[in-house]
Amino acid sequence: MPAAIVTGSSRGIGRAIATRFAADGFDVTINYLNQEDAAVDVAGEVREYGQESTVVGADVSTVAGARELIDCAVDAFGGVDHVVNNAGIDHHRYTPELDPADFDRIMDVNVNSAFIVTKHALPWLEQSDASPSVTNLSSILAHTGAPIECHYSASKGALISLTRSHAAEFAPEVRVNAIAPGHIETDMTADRHPGEKERQREAIPVGHFGQPGDIAHACAYLREATFVTGEVLNVNGGETMR
Ligand code: NAP
Repeated sequence: MPAAIVTGSSRGIGRAIATRFAADGFDVTINYLNQEDAAVDVAGEVREYGQESTVVGADVSTVAGARELIDCAVDAFGGVDHVVNNAGIDHHRYTPELDPADFDRIMDVNVNSAFIVTKHALPWLEQSDASPSVTNLSSILAHTGAPIECHYSASKGALISLTRSHAAEFAPEVRVNAIAPGHIETDMTADRHPGEKERQREAIPVGHFGQPGDIAHACAYLREATFVTGEVLNVNGGETMR
């Protein structure tokens, strides 16, 4: 049975990707940082689709955490066929108030994790005969920037460069792509001021925010798209047309 690892899959977009992979016939390694109960729930949902799951609490921004994640996945499933680098954090500060340590933490969790997890999974991906792939979760803000999130935007821009570099480096064995979501309704976007939310919604041509399942759908497409590598799939309701 092919096996996938989804980092940060206890909640939100990662959870939707993990359960979509299970629905599509993959065994799934669930990863979390703090919310173990939520991750165990996701594992239960994976099993309801008749697939196996294993749950790994590990900080993927650290070399030790990334290694542990890959080791546990290989112990459970004998290899790795697909990696989704989804774990990410957001933080709002204007530059004058932004502590360089917070800038570094965003880069560690949002970019360095994708590098470290992919690096440790690579030997297993290269052995896979299931059209192995890596999908990195970037953001619309990689393209547009954002006044109060220079560090988050920079991290997501760096993920696109990492994606293209890894795609070139790992071809033809392993495909590497990115998804750049627009506003998706998860915990990450739940605390926005109602006025700001309405302004953001009005800027979206399809007229509504995205759901985690929209990104899971895009991720399933990239997993199956054997002629696509080094690409960034924008999933934002048309927001970047404006
Ligand atoms: P979320 O609801 O806040 O969930 C974040 C997930 O990442 C949780 O499972 C969390 O685990 C995990 N996590 C955080 N730091 C981690 C670490 N160091 N090691 C392992 N796991 C870690 O976020 P989301 O909205 O689903 O976002 C998922 C990805 O999509 C992120 O990369 C985000 O930047 C990107 N994205 C989101 C949006 C959006 O509108 N929501 C838009 C563009 C891009 P715990 O549950 O244990 O805390």
